[in-house]
Parts: sequence; C-alpha cells; structure tokens
Amino acid sequence: MNTPFLHPPGWAALGEAFSQAVVPTPLREPVMAVWNRALADELALPGTGEDWLARLSGTPMPSASPALATVYSGHQFGIWAGQLGDGRALLLGEVAGQEIQLKGAGLTPYSRMGDGRAVLRSSIREYLCSEAMQGLGIPTTRALALVASPETVWRETPETAAVVTRVAPSFLRFGHFEHFFHRGEHAQLRQLADYAITRYFPHCRESTNPYQALLDEVIERTADLIADWQAVGFCHGVMNSDNMSLLGLTLDYGPFGFLDGFDAGHICNHSDHQGRYSYANQPEIGLWNLHCLAQALLPLLDRDAAVAALRRYQPQFEAALGERFRAKLGLLTEREDDWALLTTLFDLMQAGRTDWTIFWRQLGGFCSQPGAANTALRDLFVDRDGFDAWALRYGERLRTENRTDAERAQAMNRSNPKFVLRNHLAEQAIRLAKEGDYSEIARLQHVLAAPFDEHPDHAALAALPPDWAQTLSVSCSS
Ligand code: AMP
Ligand code: MG
Repeated sequence: MNTPFLHPPGWAALGEAFSQAVVPTPLREPVMAVWNRALADELALPGTGEDWLARLSGTPMPSASPALATVYSGHQFGIWAGQLGDGRALLLGEVAGQEIQLKGAGLTPYSRMGDGRAVLRSSIREYLCSEAMQGLGIPTTRALALVASPETVWRETPETAAVVTRVAPSFLRFGHFEHFFHRGEHAQLRQLADYAITRYFPHCRESTNPYQALLDEVIERTADLIADWQAVGFCHGVMNSDNMSLLGLTLDYGPFGFLDGFDAGHICNHSDHQGRYSYANQPEIGLWNLHCLAQALLPLLDRDAAVAALRRYQPQFEAALGERFRAKLGLLTEREDDWALLTTLFDLMQAGRTDWTIFWRQLGGFCSQPGAANTALRDLFVDRDGFDAWALRYGERLRTENRTDAERAQAMNRSNPKFVLRNHLAEQAIRLAKEGDYSEIARLQHVLAAPFDEHPDHAALAALPPDWAQTLSVSCSS
C-alpha cells in the first residue's frame, strides 16, 4: 500500500536538529505474522495486512514523505547517558492523528552500537503487551502489525528479526527535552515545548506560563499511569527517562512483566541488578524521571513553581492509587483505615506469595455474610489465621456499604482482570511463532483485548504459571 503518510503537522518544520530523514532497510522474505484489523479500522486504513506487508516490513516508498528518526538523550539506570535517539525506530508519518512508527526497520544516525533490528521474541512481547494494556484501559502505545522474517539477528545467540508497527498520538519522551537542555540549546528546547503544547496540550496555552502547565499535566498523567501499573501488577522493567512518554503512555516494552505471586520487591528485568526498577520502586522512579523533565524545562519555568509542582506528585499518585484500590476492593466510599486494611493484605500476600491476578479476581466472589468461610480465597494464603482475621475486617467494612455481594462482584470484575500477559503466555506464543505458527499470538490478542470477560474456552490462560515459567528470564536484550 502506497497511501502516503504525512509528517505530523509541524514536526518536519522543526528541522534537522530534531530528526533525520532515513531510508528504511526492508526485512528479507517478510511475512505478515499478525495484522491488527481492529486498529486498522480505527485508523481507517484500507486493505488487508498483506496489502501493507511491503510498507510495514521497511520497503522504502518513493512517493512517501521520508521516514524520520528523532534524537533524544536520557538517564539510564540513574546515570546520564548522553545522546540516544531512535536507533531502530522510524516515524513513517501520521494517519488519523496517530503517528505510525516502525521498530526494527534498520539503522539510523542514532543506532550507535546497535544493528537497527529487533528480534521476533521481543517484538511479539511488545505487540501483545501494547494491546493487552489497551484492553486493561491503561494508556499505551498501540501495535498495528508484526512482520516476521528469516533474517538472522545476533543477540546472545542467533535469532530472527521482526518489525513491529507502533501507533501513538506521539512518541515524544522526557528524553527529547533532556537532549536540548543538556546541550544548552534552549532555543530548540522552547521550539520543542511549543510544538508539544500546540499539538498535544493546546489548553496549556491558556495558562500564564504554558510550559508550567505542560509540566503540571505531565506530572499528573505520570502519577495516574503508574497508579494503573501498580494496581494491575505491571512492572515496566526499564523506566529510564528516555522510555517515559510525555503523553503519559506506557512506552517501550522490553523486559516488562506482570506480577505472578506477590512480591513487592519483584524485579522483572534480569539486567536490573540493583532492583532500581522493582515493582515497589516504580512510583518513586516516576518522580525521579519527572525531576529530569522538570530540570530540562527549567529554562522555561520559574524554579519555585516547578519544585511545587513536583511536590504535588506524591499526593496525586496516592489519590490515584487509592481510587484504583478501592475499586479493586469493591469499596464505594473512602475511609481512613482502608489503607491499613490494604497494607495488612499486602503483608499476607507477600508472606504467601499469593498470586496477584488470581487473588483480586477471586475477591469479587467474597461473601460478606458474618461467618462465611470464603474457602477458595483462604486457600490462596499460607497464613490462614491471618487471612481469617483480615476477612473478618474486610467483611465488616463491606457491610458498612449499601451494596449486595452480587452488585459488588459485578463491579469488581470490571476492575480486576481475569487475564494478564504473564511471561509464560508470551513465551508459549513465541515458541510457536519461531516454528512459523502465529495462531497463539492471535488467540492471546483476542483474549487480552477483553481481559475482564470470562472467556470460558480460554480459562487455562488465567491459571497459575507452570513450573517451567520460573526458568524464564527477560533482560534488556531485544
Ligand atoms: P532501550 O533500552 O530499548 O530503551 O534503548 C535504548 C537506546 O538504544 C535507544 O536509543 C534505542 O533506539 C537504542 N537501541 C536499542 N536496541 C537497538 C538496536 N538493536 N539497534 C539500534 N539501536 C538500538
Ligand atoms: Mg527505549
């Protein structure tokens, strides 16, 4: 398909300090492994996946606007890393207000030591998790297509290459702003902030300082996003400042993971030796990254106002988290001792490594009658006496509210998903895909697009991970 994608209005006009035109390097013998028809329909793209194969495997289109790689910098694992940039991502252009980006379509001026490619394994994980997060109602970049190829890519071992087509209103990162600040290029910094405000935050123009309004809003969106992650048990794995979306989207799926048995200190990324990006650290790292962004915007801000805005992150995050956990607990009202109820629960879950997703889903079936045994839930805990004491308090708390168990269960099942993309589920799809069978990706996508539904035919996807899942290890290698 040679439908031209136009550059995002205003982006190309920013000039060469911001992005470079790049000719993509097509994959050899490409196969359209998955085509996201629902998203294609949303974007009003004509034709089928096959029609798009050439374009989305990286074949240069003579009549199209040139693909662009953007430059950014960032802090990686807490350390200033200097210039990074789209080393393997290319912006094809925009359609229906959404940017279309190929990930893995060859070298760019920012590839540094990399090969510009992405492996099939990590591309499947990115494709599936983007759509799983969308199904969960969590802000995220999307995935339109996954193109596979027999082309060899070297990581620890030889693997095969793939290209994911990502879709988002914008792929702007905190790192785009850090780049110009740390180079002392304040005119470009202002140009970029103006571009972002005009396109994505136009209401900020009404404030006395639009740049401060921009920071305020990014702080709020980030607090909300991380509250979403914590509630669903999502660990990003590499919360470097260059992987933080200005729009508050989940961005750059690498060594992410969903909690299985609850462990607050869970580290999903085997390259994260210090546990900087553990589950429990994510909220604080969100703030750390916002400090990077605020610092980068300082030439456009009043320092005291910026500091005051950063101080609002913690209460905003706690309010967002409280809201989500009240919904997970099935509470309509807010009470001061609800946090104590929750922390006692976390202690019990931590002690027994109670499965996060299964527990919350089953909690919907809690019987609040005094003396009810709630046996199935109780069996999820090692400390049964501890659970009984907690259940007594929880039952009492529920009875202070004017709602039947059935009504509550219905509401809770819209907050506590039955299905999340556990590592072993992605792994099963990867193993089949390596044999050329992409059906499991399609099946997972179908179920994860509606993770709050029961899907009785796919109940096995909601089960505890098998023993072999413990041997799985995900790292920065992608
Ligand atoms: P990430 O850890 O995936 O967020 O990537 C950090 C930086 O490395 C970004 O600038 C990426 O574009 C770049 N990068 C990662 N993998 C590759 C690759 N295979 N080829 C080129 N650049 C890469
Ligand atoms: Mg990245």
